[in-house]
Parts: sequence; structure tokens; C-alpha cells
Amino acid sequence: MSPTITLALSKGRIFDETLPLLAAAGIEVLEDPEKSRKLILPTNQPDVRVVLVRATDVPTYVEHGGADLGVTGKDTLIEHGGQGLYQPLDLNIARCRVSVAVRADFDYASAVRQGSRLRVATKYTSIARDFFAAKGVHVDLIKLYGSMELAPLTGLADAIVDLVSTGNTLKANQLVEVERIMDISSRLVVNQAALKLKQARLRPLLDAFAKAVTPIPA
Ligand code: AMP
Repeated sequence: MSPTITLALSKGRIFDETLPLLAAAGIEVLEDPEKSRKLILPTNQPDVRVVLVRATDVPTYVEHGGADLGVTGKDTLIEHGGQGLYQPLDLNIARCRVSVAVRADFDYASAVRQGSRLRVATKYTSIARDFFAAKGVHVDLIKLYGSMELAPLTGLADAIVDLVSTGNTLKANQLVEVERIMDISSRLVVNQAALKLKQARLRPLLDAFAKAVTPIPA
């Protein structure tokens, strides 16, 4: 009997955009996570199952073998550190960017030029710390877990570092994007031990995903 393969996904954009890649590998998830309360979803392949975890928990599940493989954003991977994970593939899905945004009436350029201490609210403290350190800008980082956009509006912070996709959320909150830190897409991550022990089942899956990835337009 072949070993069970467990794939960790988070609900929402990553789940939705991973489905076509799974289909290319002959895998169909048999329940809709938006309609079911189940955390473990069966697939049409008796030896493949999907576990639903928070986006930030995907690398942890895969690192410690709670899942054999998973799909996670580059942002989440950087914050996690990526240790113990084999990262064979950029799936080029859930694309967005990490940017710095401020209130429309905040003079970011002057604040940075004058060397003032910037109060930056973010969930992405590693990315923000490295980015501002490289620019030589002194920052006080304020760790938040959600609704970063609120921080400059309430005076909690001067700036935020957050994911931006269409820019609509920033616009709706009178914030402007002042710097683009990095482009983000989701990656396939694989548990290193599973890659060896379950190689016969995992390899064809990885190959099918690789073939199905849409390249980034030039
Ligand atoms: P948007 O209004 O399209 O710029 O989207 C911004 C909001 O969606 C922010 O609250 C982001 O945290 C979130 N967001 C955008 N892209 C992604 C993504 N690829 N993964 C997770 N959250 C995202």
C-alpha cells in the first residue's frame, strides 16, 4: 500500500489557485472548504488528502511533518525562515507585492530624508526590519496580526508594511503606496524527510505541478 500524502493549504486565494495545479496532477478535492467545517478534506486519490491550516502555519506543518507538502506565500516563508523545507517550485500563484504605505497626508520622503525614527506597523517584521536597515532608516516596529491599514489612521504608526494586490484596500483607507519592497508569489514546500521516504509518490506530483505552472509574463 502506498503511504498517505498530506498537502497543507490555507483557505481563500491560495486554495482556489492551487486547485488547477492539483487537477493537472489528477487530484480533485472532494469538498468545498467554504461550505464544510472539516479540516481534513479527502480527494479523488485515496492516498492524497488536504489539510486546511492558517496561512502562517503552513511552513510549520510541513517542517515538522504534519504535512508532506504545502503551498505558502514567499512573505510567509521569509517570516518563518524556511528552515527544514525543500522549496522546489515557484507556483506563480496568489501574486501580490509587499509595500510600504502611509497616509496620503504623511510626507514619507522627508521623514526618510531627515532620518527621523519611523513607526512602522506590520505583520512582516523580518521583511520590514531588513528593508529599512538596508536603507539606513531607523524604525520602531509594531507587530500587528491584522488590519494593518488601521494603524496610520489611528496614529498608532506612521507607515505600514503590508501585502498589496489591486491597491483597492489602501485607496479605500486613504493610504498611498510609497515603496515596493518585493514581489510575492506562492511556493511549493516539501518536508525533506518525506521527499526521501515518499519519493515514488511525490516525484510524479512535483513533476506534474512543474509542468502546470504558468510562467510569469515577460
Ligand atoms: P488589494 O486591496 O487587492 O490591494 O488587497 C490588499 C488586501 O488583501 C490586504 O489586506 C492584503 O493583506 C490582502 N492580500 C492581497 N494579496 C494577498 C495574497 N496574495 N495573499 C494574502 N493576502 C493578500
